[in-house]
Amino acid sequence: MILRRLRIAASLFVPDVCYLCGAPAVDGEGPVCVACAMGFDRPAESPAALADTLRPRVMPRRAPFGTAAAPFVYTHTNGVGRLIRAGKYGDRPGLLTYLAARLAPMVPDDADVLMPVPMPWLKKLRRGYNQTEVIAAELSRITGVPVGDNLTARRHRSQASMRGAERRRAMQGVFRVRHADELEGLHVALVDDIITTGTTLYAAAEALLPASPGRLSALALAVTRQA
Ligand SMILES: [Zn+2]
Repeated sequence: MILRRLRIAASLFVPDVCYLCGAPAVDGEGPVCVACAMGFDRPAESPAALADTLRPRVMPRRAPFGTAAAPFVYTHTNGVGRLIRAGKYGDRPGLLTYLAARLAPMVPDDADVLMPVPMPWLKKLRRGYNQTEVIAAELSRITGVPVGDNLTARRHRSQASMRGAERRRAMQGVFRVRHADELEGLHVALVDDIITTGTTLYAAAEALLPASPGRLSALALAVTRQA
């Protein structure tokens, strides 16, 4: 017990270091040093071209498409990948906040509400937080666009081992919209952490359609190069 307390006390005096390379952080750099941040993988396409590429992955054809945006490319080994995984599974939500600040400039000017992709409540209870809510909260703090809680999720199988059509079937009916009347005519920007196949965002967008949003966008911290 005493040892543990000592360790906690000692940790207060350890200087901040970059989460990725361990270099001492200069005041105000945040959890990642400037050199590592400069090396983040970014999509090769322009934002407009990326939106076109992502559209069929993340949005039903009949949805009133706004945009789809992600500032970074995700791989299992790159810096952004390490930050997102630690942010999701390593109890380091501050790393997600850091990345969310880089996504904030991509929030559409006319967005009315940020809608984090929900997590089944039991999963959220186990993890302690839903990473998409952490991201949406930071986007909201920066842009002033409010965060909505109109989407709910029920428990569902992990998609990890599934492919294309099977994934889409598995996600059907997972998300539900409540107080649908609140969203009518609004530009709703869905918020997720990573766009891989896009199936999750697609299903969330589909669930929102009966609420008659004026526009639907999809925002994420990062996108994988290939579905
Ligand atoms: Zn670094």
